[in-house]
This record gives sequence, C-alpha cells and structure tokens, in this order.
Amino acid sequence: MDVVTLTAGEPDFPTPFHIKEAAKKAIEDNLTSYTHNAGIPELRRAIADKFRRDNNLLFDPSQILVSNGAKHSLYNTLKAICNRGDEVVIPAPYWVSYPQMVTLVEATPVFVQTKEENDFKSTSAQLRRAITRKTKALIFCTPSNPRGSVYAQEEIEALSRVAKETDIYVISDEIYEKVIYDGARHFSMGSIPAVRDQVITVNGVSKAYSMTGWRIGFLGGRKDIVAAAEKVQGQVTSNASSISQHAALAALTGPDDELRAMSAEFLRRRNFIHEAVTSIKGITCKKPRGAFYLFPNVRSFFGRKRKGRTMKSGDDIAEYLLNEERVVVIPGSGFGSKDHVRLSYACSMSELEKAAERLQRGFKRLE
Ligand code: PLP
Repeated sequence: MDVVTLTAGEPDFPTPFHIKEAAKKAIEDNLTSYTHNAGIPELRRAIADKFRRDNNLLFDPSQILVSNGAKHSLYNTLKAICNRGDEVVIPAPYWVSYPQMVTLVEATPVFVQTKEENDFKSTSAQLRRAITRKTKALIFCTPSNPRGSVYAQEEIEALSRVAKETDIYVISDEIYEKVIYDGARHFSMGSIPAVRDQVITVNGVSKAYSMTGWRIGFLGGRKDIVAAAEKVQGQVTSNASSISQHAALAALTGPDDELRAMSAEFLRRRNFIHEAVTSIKGITCKKPRGAFYLFPNVRSFFGRKRKGRTMKSGDDIAEYLLNEERVVVIPGSGFGSKDHVRLSYACSMSELEKAAERLQRGFKRLE
C-alpha cells in the first residue's frame, strides 16, 4: 500500500561522508576493542570542547560520560540520582520515554501541565507548585519534542532560580540543540553559575549529524554524579561502540557545512508543512522553532463522525487518517495530550507534498 509515514524521529539524510570515513578507518586500524567505560579520552576531550564552545559549559573531560545514545545518558543519570519513591518533574507534553524511564528507576513522574498559549513551556510558578519534599529532579528539554518549543534565556533563568531554591537536580536534554530556526538561540541551563553543580546536560550526535543508528550520546555534570552514572553503565553495557566513538569524534571536530545544509532543508520543509496544516480549517498549530515535528491541536474535530465512528481523541484522528487517507501521524496521547497529533517532517519534500494533500482532504471530510 502507498502509505505516507510522518512518524520518523530521525533525520532522513545520510551520515556525512567524513564521519563514515572515520569509522572505516577505525575498523582498518583495529580500534575494535573495549574502550574506557566512559569513552575514549580524545572523544571526551572533544565533547568538553564542544560544551565550552557551544554552550558555555565548563567541564573537565573527567566530567564527561559517553553512552549508547542520549537515551542511555538520560537513563544512566536517573538511575544514578533517584531512589525509590523520589519524584521527578516532567513538563507535559513530554517525550514519551521520560515517564517510562522514571518509572523504571522506581521513582514517580510528576507532570506539569503546560499551556498551549505559552508554547507548551513550563513557567517557574508551575515548576514551583509541582515540587514537594520528595522531588529529586526536573527533566527539561529545549528545543522540545514533541512541540519544538525553544525556551528563551530569561525563561531558563527563572526555572533555574526555582531549582536553586529547592535544591533539585535538572536533567537538561539538549539533543535538538542544532535543529533550530528563525534566529532562536539555544541556551544551556548548566551555564548559569548558581546551578552549575545541579544540572546534568545531555546531548549527542544522533539528531545533529544524522547519526541515530551509531548510538552515541553523552552527558556532562558534577564529578560525583558522572562517576555514579559511569558505574551504572559499567555494569550494564560498558563502553559505547569503539567504532561509533571514532565517528562521533570526527563529527564533533570536523566541518559542519552538511549540518547547516540539513538545517536549511528542515527549515524549508517546516515552512511548507506548517503552512499546509494550518490552512486546514479547525486546526491550530504554532510554528515550531526547533526539532522537526509539528504538534497540531485537532480538538475541534472531536464529535465529528466518519463511517459510524465518532472522533473523541487524537488517537481516533490518527487511526482515521491511517485507514482512510493512508497517512501516519502519532497520537498525542503518548506525549501526554489527547488533543494533539504529532507529525514529523523528517521526510522528503515529495512525501510531504503528498501528506499535505491527504491531510487536507481527510480533515475536509470531517468538517
Ligand atoms: N531526547 C529526545 C527529546 C528525543 O526525542 C530523543 C530521540 O528521539 C532522544 C533524547 C534520544 O536520542 P538518542 O538517539 O541519541 O538516544
């Protein structure tokens, strides 16, 4: 069947040539043994340099842990800092894995319901209300998935003041740092001196360099936290792939012209699909300023009937679009909102054009 799939959580570009060459060379040079559990020294140094250069984060290489993807970095951090019964605050809508990871480490996810009018960004007042004596950490993501919101420096500073007063950790997921538009500026909470020791910054090469399959993520943080996360990793997976580490080293130290070309293409696609989706009567969707997703509100279609079925949620809308228009979007419920669906524009322009036509026809039929 001819199905258009708008679900990809990864860039659709090949990994840049020089990165692949570095991996081939690592194999030819027999760099295929176990490495240091925390990563090869030259990569940890390159990550420390990247953090200093791009984010104003000052880490010694010993404060860097290289893991099997940013997902692994997040889990290692949670496992290192949480005890049973701790609470971890997560602004909703959220990336699907956050609550599951928190549950896996026997802590409890506590959701902060953010407002669509505020671009789904958590305010400091909302964060303060969610914090109890049991709160161990906030998981914070900018640019965000699924909404593509980018927090401004002042907003991050306001959140950091609450973190400081309440003495909680902040796990700052910055994996979409390089996928950012319209002159928005990425700012790292860990660069604020007052909370430097409370913030664990997570990033990786997956989204920026189109390297999702290579599985390299990393974190930087206070020495004892990094050491604890490293201990967790040491007993569960040991080092990330030696070959991928050499590829990641080439990514972080090499030219970034392909990265810029990818960003320009994402921008073109975002503009196209955002305009197509918001031209549909009944849909509201702010323009995302980062990542490669749209998160349109489809609530106005609830109560409409099609072939005997009444639309009651984003789940129903997603199922309807798949069955009748052969276009796949992800229901918002997995991200903590039943009023939305998530569309990824990490696919070719021709697929997006097809998707736009089908979405416009599908929603028209629901009018
Ligand atoms: N954080 C967010 C918000 C994501 O959307 C993803 C992947 O979809 C990740 C982390 C995981 O990245 P990685 O592929 O490096 O594990």
